[in-house]
Amino acid sequence: MSPRLRLAIPNKGRLAEPAIELLRDAGFVFDPHDRRLVAHVENLDVDVLFVRAGDIVEFVADGVADLGITGRDLLAERDSPLQALRELGFGHCRLSVAVPDESPYQAVEDLAGLRSATAHPNLARRFFAERELNVEVIPLSGAVEVAPRLGLAESIVDLVSTGSTLAMNGLRPIGVVLESEAVLVGGPTSEGRADEVAAVDQMLGAVLEGRRSKYVMMNAPADRLAELRSLLPALASPSVIPLAEEGMIAIHSVVGAADVWRLLPRLKAGGASGILVLPIEKILG
Ligand code: AMP
Repeated sequence: MSPRLRLAIPNKGRLAEPAIELLRDAGFVFDPHDRRLVAHVENLDVDVLFVRAGDIVEFVADGVADLGITGRDLLAERDSPLQALRELGFGHCRLSVAVPDESPYQAVEDLAGLRSATAHPNLARRFFAERELNVEVIPLSGAVEVAPRLGLAESIVDLVSTGSTLAMNGLRPIGVVLESEAVLVGGPTSEGRADEVAAVDQMLGAVLEGRRSKYVMMNAPADRLAELRSLLPALASPSVIPLAEEGMIAIHSVVGAADVWRLLPRLKAGGASGILVLPIEKILG
């Protein structure tokens, strides 16, 4: 009997809760709240390992875990040969170069000969080297945004999502090193377990596709069908169902979640009434 597949996810920090939520939505039944390192998934041959986000790349590379969920920035920082199998749609941020508001620097080229503090020293060094900028990179493990105020560096290279932490610390971004989001990574052991890995990847993919979509139902006069169809995504053929009331139909369709608010007034103008928008749990194409 082959050992259970091991999936490593962050035990704390920004990626921890969304990773658990994704697994839950995908149908993994497990108890993440007993604070053990390993949670046994009751309905699948999978164990979930809770480890530090920064250690996940090593766990997967060493074969301690077969799969992992971590930030693309952490994968890139370790210059790891591990493959990102799938982007997971959460943990969006960018690794940015930022400087104090009142400083004269407007572009990364202005930082030549100065210092930059960061928790991503490898990415920062590569970024400046590619631009042939002589910037001394000061590695820090946390509180990077206070480095300029402490006189440790003239700039920082740090993760930014909304920008509010930067603003709170009197900093402004002047360049982007990397765009990041959470990814599913596979390592050396996952190659020999292709079917199991594909099954997990498919479960996660079905949830992500569902999150990107909405199910729209509406009633309409049958003679408005052509007009309403032209408003709906061309690829998904809508379901058309006759209603008890003569000359009326119901139209059901899957639409992009981001398009819904643009679409609804147009559907209404096209004759639709009683429009319902429903969440979709999973989509398997
Ligand atoms: P944490 O464990 O919370 O320090 O962060 C772990 C990972 O969360 C980072 O490596 C990023 O991939 C991701 N992340 C997403 N948004 C942010 C953000 N605004 N600041 C820091 N990390 C972020």
